[in-house]
Amino acid sequence: MLHPESLRAVLNQQLPDALQMLERMVGINSFTTNRDGVNRLARFTAECFAPLGFLPQFVPSRFSEYGDHLVLTRRGRTPVNLALISHLDTVFPPEEEARNNFRWSVEGDRIYGPGTNDIKGGTALMWLMLSALRTQAPRLFEAVTWKLIWNSSEECFSPDFGEVCRAQFDANTAAALVFESEGRLGTEHLMVVARKGRATWRVTVNGRGAHAGSNHPEGANAIVQLGRVVDRIAALTDYRRDLTVTVGRIAGGTVLNRVPHEAVAEGELRAFTPQVFEQAKAALLALSGPGDVRAVADRFPCAVRVEILSESRPWPRNPGSDGLFQFWQSAGAELDYPINEQERGGLSDGNLIWDAVPTLDGLGPWGDHSHCSERSADGSKLPEYVEVSSFVPKAAVNVVAIAKLLAKAGVTM
Ligand SMILES: [Zn+2]
Repeated sequence: MLHPESLRAVLNQQLPDALQMLERMVGINSFTTNRDGVNRLARFTAECFAPLGFLPQFVPSRFSEYGDHLVLTRRGRTPVNLALISHLDTVFPPEEEARNNFRWSVEGDRIYGPGTNDIKGGTALMWLMLSALRTQAPRLFEAVTWKLIWNSSEECFSPDFGEVCRAQFDANTAAALVFESEGRLGTEHLMVVARKGRATWRVTVNGRGAHAGSNHPEGANAIVQLGRVVDRIAALTDYRRDLTVTVGRIAGGTVLNRVPHEAVAEGELRAFTPQVFEQAKAALLALSGPGDVRAVADRFPCAVRVEILSESRPWPRNPGSDGLFQFWQSAGAELDYPINEQERGGLSDGNLIWDAVPTLDGLGPWGDHSHCSERSADGSKLPEYVEVSSFVPKAAVNVVAIAKLLAKAGVTM
């Protein structure tokens, strides 16, 4: 049995070490394309977990501009294993951190700094949780094979990380637990059980250039055509089906005395279910073909071409994630920490792995303003921070929930 009081006491005792670790992690710039920084953070992370008995493996990314993925393993007595997932990279280039003086800074219950919330705070909480498990439930800790896996390039949706994870999973993998920050709604703490998929797209319109003064009827205006097409694209958004289609960027034309011959727009779409996702993609692609803007002189049509540029598939509601969520909800009820489920619009590594093993996300601490490095004098703009007081209660819930899920898998204390 885990006693909540002694569990919290141990976590409180170990919190300063976890925060010291976090401070050093935040001090290492790990912008996705800062390969050296990401690799330095990976080595430091491996050092942090070594005293708990973890052995490192550095797995090169398929993309040469990114650092290595990190896998830390601790073999247990039983074949049952758990995967804990985080990432090394942040969205902040070193120059931006310097320009905005954005670095580790403790203000009351908040710690501001790059990656404090997304996701180095999650990594620190993972360490805190494991070190408490080791002292509070050593038999359980020793029984499980732990696989801790860090994506070097999550912020760029590195697709090869899914394969890195799958290579670690086997029939005895009870769960993949992702340490992105938790959600909040009033007094409720939200765990993530689904995330939208995202596809990016480009529309290129080729018209026919013509002299805007002497030859206007010969022109097929690509910008006018694109205007019509983006209107149709925007209209694909359907909130009732949780589908958003966003036109994000547009360009066209050259000089002003021409009927423009080319125009381009780019954007993205997001949906929770594979079905809605695929339907939206098909509706977009169906806009390809001859357009309805034509030259007056000879009916020459503009040509519309739609391409899908990248795709991260949806993580829909599924029995595996919903089943895991039950353990957290009942642990939360025991610890007086109300937990509810959340379907989130943003992507995480959960999108890559949910169909391989039961996956739950949002195991990290609470914070806010992820991906923002700016602060305005009037306080209307605040940079990313993590809340210190969220670490211990969340780590306690994670420990109790994991004990419940392991008991179900046949591993007891
Ligand atoms: Zn993240």
